[in-house]
Amino acid sequence: MFLRYLPADKRENSIEISILASISLPTNYSKLAEFVKNLKKGPMKYPEVTIKLPDWVYDFPGNREKTFTSLENRMKFVVELSRLNITNQTGGPFAAAIFEINEGILVSLGLNMVTSMNSSIMHAEIVAIAIAQQLIGNYDLGNDPSRVYELHTSTEPCAMCLGAIPWSGIRRVVCGARGEDAEQIGFDEGHKPDKGILSLEEQGITVVRDLLRDDAITVLKQYQQSGGQIY
Ligand SMILES: [Zn+2]
Repeated sequence: MFLRYLPADKRENSIEISILASISLPTNYSKLAEFVKNLKKGPMKYPEVTIKLPDWVYDFPGNREKTFTSLENRMKFVVELSRLNITNQTGGPFAAAIFEINEGILVSLGLNMVTSMNSSIMHAEIVAIAIAQQLIGNYDLGNDPSRVYELHTSTEPCAMCLGAIPWSGIRRVVCGARGEDAEQIGFDEGHKPDKGILSLEEQGITVVRDLLRDDAITVLKQYQQSGGQIY
């Protein structure tokens, strides 16, 4: 893809650079230099990518709750996580959690860790889904009909997360702020289907919107006012 931008006579010498561009390794140039060095030696060893929640999560009293009986309590927990993610400077103003739908058992949580992990895909919803699937030991959270799961997210899912949710086996999505609230402070929500989040309903996933929306917006604004990075 890099080659397209080079004149033909420069392309032969740029092959190494083009490999780097397509792999899109990090902005960490010492790693990049090591990568170039190793290219000449043989097969490259790629870095492992591990999702590790920040340590403060385990000190957060809310995380000691086992069950959250009302939808409001579940969302309150998620909005508080989004606030703590910015005060602890571990990522953007977004959080998510997965609950067993009937009893409200907390199964997993996720935080936006795009900046802290240097990874554009580390959105709160994706992190929560990945952890829940590891915990349950199945890539499909809808695998067991006796256990139905819902995702709470402090802000409506972006285009990427909207794409990921139907594959996850989640049966209900509950949202705080709207996508336009995130756009209001400059975040890019991507190209969503015409019906936006309601497109999930066509795929058999129930959608609940605007739960504690004002509280979630307050966190978005707090992040903006603190000069947080927008992406
Ligand atoms: Zn997303």
